[in-house]
Amino acid sequence: MAINNQYLQSVYNGLAARNAHEPEFLQAVYEVFESLVPVVEKRPEIEKNGVMERIVEPERIVNFRVSWVDDAGKVQVNRGWRIQFNSAIGPYKGGLRLHPSVNQSIIKFLGFEQIFKNSLTGLPMGGGKGGSDFDPKGKSDNEIMRFCQSFMTELYRHIGPDTDVPAGDIGTGAREIGYMFGQYKRLRNEFTGVLTGKSLVSGGSLARTEATGYGVCYFMDEMLKAAGKSFEGKAVVISGSGNVAIYANQKATQLGAKVVAMSDSNGFIYDPAGIDFKVIKEIKEVKRARIKTYLDYVPTASYTEDKDGSKGIWGVKCDIALPCATQNELDGASAQKLVDNGVIAVAEGANMPSTPEAVETFHKNGVLFGPAKAANAGGVATSGLEMSQNSARLSWSFDQVDETLHGIMKNIYANAAAAAKEYGMEGNLVAGANIAGFTKVCDAMLWQGVAY
Ligand code: GLU
Repeated sequence: MAINNQYLQSVYNGLAARNAHEPEFLQAVYEVFESLVPVVEKRPEIEKNGVMERIVEPERIVNFRVSWVDDAGKVQVNRGWRIQFNSAIGPYKGGLRLHPSVNQSIIKFLGFEQIFKNSLTGLPMGGGKGGSDFDPKGKSDNEIMRFCQSFMTELYRHIGPDTDVPAGDIGTGAREIGYMFGQYKRLRNEFTGVLTGKSLVSGGSLARTEATGYGVCYFMDEMLKAAGKSFEGKAVVISGSGNVAIYANQKATQLGAKVVAMSDSNGFIYDPAGIDFKVIKEIKEVKRARIKTYLDYVPTASYTEDKDGSKGIWGVKCDIALPCATQNELDGASAQKLVDNGVIAVAEGANMPSTPEAVETFHKNGVLFGPAKAANAGGVATSGLEMSQNSARLSWSFDQVDETLHGIMKNIYANAAAAAKEYGMEGNLVAGANIAGFTKVCDAMLWQGVAY
């Protein structure tokens, strides 16, 4: 494969040589560069000002030790990161991922994607991401608290409400944000909106919990409507069963669809009657149990063990697929299975869940495809609304936040579709989202001069 532009190809080659051990990061950059060929050709000032060389280098990477004591009294050591990728249009903004697979490549790919996603929301937020290779699975509440406090004991000196505002991601929910918020407040003696995804009792926003999953469905709804279709009566498969998947289930069901399958890293459940949102919410948010316990509540459902990266779920027949688990969970073969089974639309709730081969398969077969940067931007957009509420020291109603979120998702769809059309790639929302997200950041970087 080659990028059809000499400047972009040479910047990419240099990056690949310097970061040969960061495959996820290179995958994310390659996709954006491929989309930007017509933009770079039309606007020579991009090359003249070294915008692409600059945009692929994080403004700052903080990598630190996180040591903590487990319940048995043993000292544990994890690696922590915060990558402050780009602040051209606002304070760094992005989640903290806690998962054993976390390494610098994963955080860099997520941080890079966040730049364009945050720009698409239309709100003033730069791109950042962080996390640790800490595995929250099976840890006691006290262990989670000690880890989070230790993590924040280093992180606090690098963040702030006007500098960098972290939030949740895989493994980081309201509980973890609470422990981190408490520690930040203790260390700084400041009660500020330094984190989003906070509890409602400490400055959190209504509808933030629901936002990413709702947003994915609002985006899907726009794609379907533009094609003269709707959610009504459709069978939906949602991979994952975390925060994004749970609320995507709720909204898809509200919009008239039936969610027939959901998964975790051990397997997937199938319920042709429609997976009950309340049961999934109880299992995951209250019991913190595995998805197979769904059968204890709904014995007519079935469970299939599937440890091999959970790709079995893509063999379930459906009209709409929402990958909401993790990166590269949907490969070329899975995409082909979905196409063979008649899928009409796919929107990404997770970050970069489809491999490049999968995206190509969807595009070639005329499947409507909503890329992560656009489709899952509702989470960070609502984080932006949480920041606004914190700055104004007031809180909005659920409906006010939800309606604003809905409007933002509609705009993202319209802007991505328009950018794709403007550059001769009508219907290609991957290109459209990358171009629309890039344009604002690029213009801000040009306006501010070469400072980094
Ligand atoms: N982790 C989420 C994302 O991937 C949300 C980030 C945020 O709310 O800052 O966009």
